[in-house]
Amino acid sequence: MIDPFGRDISYLRVSVTDRCDFRCTYCMSEDMAFLPKKDVLSLEELERLCNVFVKLGVKKLRLTGGEPLVRKNIMSLIRSLGHHLDTGDLEELTLTTNGTQLHRYAMELFDCGVRRVNVSIDTLDPKKFTEITRWGKLENVLRGIEAAANSGLKIKLNTVALRGTNEDELPNMVKWAGERGFDITIIEVMPMGDIGTENRVSQYLPLSMVRSNLSEHFTLRDIDYKTGGPARYVEVEETGTKIGLITPLTHNFCESCNRVRLTCTGTLYMCLGQEDAADLKIPLRNSEGDEALTRAIHEAISRKPKGHDFIIDRRQKNSSVPRHMSVTGG
Ligand code: SAM
Ligand code: SF4
Repeated sequence: MIDPFGRDISYLRVSVTDRCDFRCTYCMSEDMAFLPKKDVLSLEELERLCNVFVKLGVKKLRLTGGEPLVRKNIMSLIRSLGHHLDTGDLEELTLTTNGTQLHRYAMELFDCGVRRVNVSIDTLDPKKFTEITRWGKLENVLRGIEAAANSGLKIKLNTVALRGTNEDELPNMVKWAGERGFDITIIEVMPMGDIGTENRVSQYLPLSMVRSNLSEHFTLRDIDYKTGGPARYVEVEETGTKIGLITPLTHNFCESCNRVRLTCTGTLYMCLGQEDAADLKIPLRNSEGDEALTRAIHEAISRKPKGHDFIIDRRQKNSSVPRHMSVTGG
C-alpha cells in the first residue's frame, strides 16, 4: 500500500477497545463515556480486518486501546494473529499496555510470538502514580513489568512529560529504565479529546526543556536510529540504552509516517492528528469476501494526508483533535 506521498504503509495500529482500567489525566476525563458494546467489532471481525491488512502488505501490527489487555478473550485474537508470524507474512506483533494485566498474560504473549511490549508508566512515585491515573496502583504495573521481563519480552517504557508532575523525576526514570536495559520514550502531551477540568496548556512540557535537563545528568548522543515512527532517538552513554523523544508539537514527524490506525468500531484513521477517516465496518459486514474491504482500504490510503496540524493554543483551553487518544490508541 503506497500513499500519495510515496510512503509505504506497512504498520497498522489497532485499538481493540476504548475502555480502560485507568483514567490518566492527560488521556481521559474522569467521567469518560465509553462506546456501547454493540458498536464495538467482535474479536472475529477485528481478526478478519487485520488479516486483510496483512494480505495487503502490513508487516507490523500493534494492539492498543484503551487498555488492550482488559478486553475479554483478547488472547484469542493475539494467538490467531500470531500465526501470521509463523508464515512470515507478519514481521512483528506487539502491544502498548498500561501493564496492569501483564503479570497474568506475559508468558502467554511470548508463547503467541510477541517479543516486545511498550508499557506506559509516567512516574515511579506510588502517590503520584495514583494521581496521574486517577486510581491506578504502581505496584501492579511494576509487577507486570517484572513478569514481562522474566518471560523474555523486551520492554520499552512510554512516559508522557507532564509539567510540574513528573518533570523533576524524568532523569531518575531514565536511570531506572537504563539499569534494567529498557529503552524509554518520552512523549509530549498531544491535544486530543476533552479531558474535563484538566488543562492541557498547564500539562504541556516541551521536550527541548526535558532534553536539556537530562543532559545535565547523562551523556546523550544523537543517533540515526529510525523506526518509521515519530520518535527521534538519543543514546545514553552511561547505560547504553536509548531514549526516544516524541515531539509532535515542536517537530514534524510526518514525512516518514508508515502507519494507519484502526478503531474498535472499524474506523480507519489515516493520520493521528486529522479527522478524516474511512468506515471499514460497512464493507466488512456487507460482504463475506474481502473485495469490498480491500477496495475501501486502498481508497482510504489514497487519502492519507501529508501531515497533522496539532496546536496547543493558550486561548483554546482544550483539544485541537476532538477524539481521545484511546480511540486510536496513540
Ligand atoms: N492503555 C495503554 C497505555 O496506556 O499504554 C494503551 C493506550 S494509550 C492511549 C497509548 C499511549 O498514549 C500511552 O503511552 C499514553 O501515555 C499515551 N497518551 C494518551 N493520551 C495522550 C495525550 N493526550 N498526549 C500524549 N500521549 C498520550
Ligand atoms: Fe488508559 Fe492508556 Fe489512556 Fe491511561 S493512557 S487512560 S492507561 S488508555
